[in-house]
Amino acid sequence: MVSVIDYNYSRENPSRKISVVIPVYNESTNILKVIERLDKVFMRLNYHHEYIFVDDGSVDTTADVLKSMHELNGNIHYIELSKNFGHQNALKAGMDMASGDCIISMDGDLQHPPELLPLFISKWEEGHEIVYSRRRASEGNSAYKKFTSNLFYNLLNKVSEVKLEQGTADFRLIDRKVADILLQFNEIEPFLRGIVKWVGFSQYAIDYDAEQRFSDKSKYSLKKMFRLAMQGITSFSIRPLYTAVFIGFSISFLSLLYFPYVIYSLMAGKAIAGWASIITTIVFFGGLQITLMGVIGIYVGKIFLQTKLRPNYIIRNTSLDKRYDLAKF
Ligand code: UDP
Ligand code: MG
Repeated sequence: MVSVIDYNYSRENPSRKISVVIPVYNESTNILKVIERLDKVFMRLNYHHEYIFVDDGSVDTTADVLKSMHELNGNIHYIELSKNFGHQNALKAGMDMASGDCIISMDGDLQHPPELLPLFISKWEEGHEIVYSRRRASEGNSAYKKFTSNLFYNLLNKVSEVKLEQGTADFRLIDRKVADILLQFNEIEPFLRGIVKWVGFSQYAIDYDAEQRFSDKSKYSLKKMFRLAMQGITSFSIRPLYTAVFIGFSISFLSLLYFPYVIYSLMAGKAIAGWASIITTIVFFGGLQITLMGVIGIYVGKIFLQTKLRPNYIIRNTSLDKRYDLAKF
C-alpha cells in the first residue's frame, strides 16, 4: 500500500474541483471497491470532487451498478457508451465531459492504487500541469504481461519520435489547460499516453507498484493489446515506412552479390542449386512483402478512417450535464 508521506496539505485549495475518470468494461465486481477506496482518500482531502465512470459497452451489470450508485451519491457519475469503443476512446469520453480543474484517469480494477491521488494532487498544486505515473516492475503483473509490455515500450521507442518511459499507463493527472487542449484532438484511435507526452507542459513522474487486479480478469485480450501497440507505433511516426524502404533496399543490394555466383555456375556448367534454397527464398520474400504491405496498409487505413470523421464514441446515456454534443468528433 502506498503511503501519503509526500502530501502537502498546506497547499490545498478547496474551491478547486477534481474529476476522477474511470473507464470500465464489465467491471461490475470491482466498482464498489473502487468507490470505497476513492472515498477513503477524498475523506482526508478538502476538495470538491466527482467520479466519472465510463461504461464502455459492458454486457454485465456494470450499467445498473453505476446507476444505483449515482442515485445514492450525486458525486458519482456515469457515461454509458452505445457499444464497446475501446479503453482509449472511453477514457477520452470521460475526459471530454469532466468539469474538474484537474482530471485524474485510472483503471477500474484497482491496479492503480487510489492512495496515490493525494501525491498527484500535491504535485499539481505545486504547479505541474501533468503528473503521470510509471509502474515499477512488480509482482502485480504476470511474467507474460511484463514481457509484452517491455516489448511494446522498446519497440515504440525505437520507431517513434515521442519517447515513452517504461510502464507509463493511463494513470495520471492532467490540468484543465491540458484537458481543454485534448478536447480539440479528433484523431481516430487516440493513443492518449503518447498524446499527453507530446503536448509538453510541466510533467512530473511518480513511480508506483501496481497492485493485483481486484477481481475478474484483464479486459485486454492479446488482440486488443496488439492493436493498441500498433496504434501507438503508427500514430506517432511514419518511421516504419522508411524502415520498410530500407529493408527493401538492403535486400536488393544483397541479392546483387548473388550475380557473380550465378555467372560462375553458368560458365562452369554447374547445375543450379537445388529446390530447397529456392523455395526458402520465395517463402521468405513472400512473407516480407506481405508484412511491408501491411505496414503501408495500416497507414492507408488510418487515412481512410480519418477522412470519414466518425466520432470517437457515442454516448447512450449519462448522468452528467450534456455540455458537449452526444457524439464527440
Ligand atoms: N477497458 C475498457 N474498454 C475495453 C477494455 C478495457 O474500458 O475495451 C477498461 C477496463 O475495464 C479497465 C481498464 O480499461 O478499467 C484497463 O483494462 P484492464 O485492466 O483489463 O487492462 P490491463 O490492466 O490488463 O492492461
Ligand atoms: Mg488492469
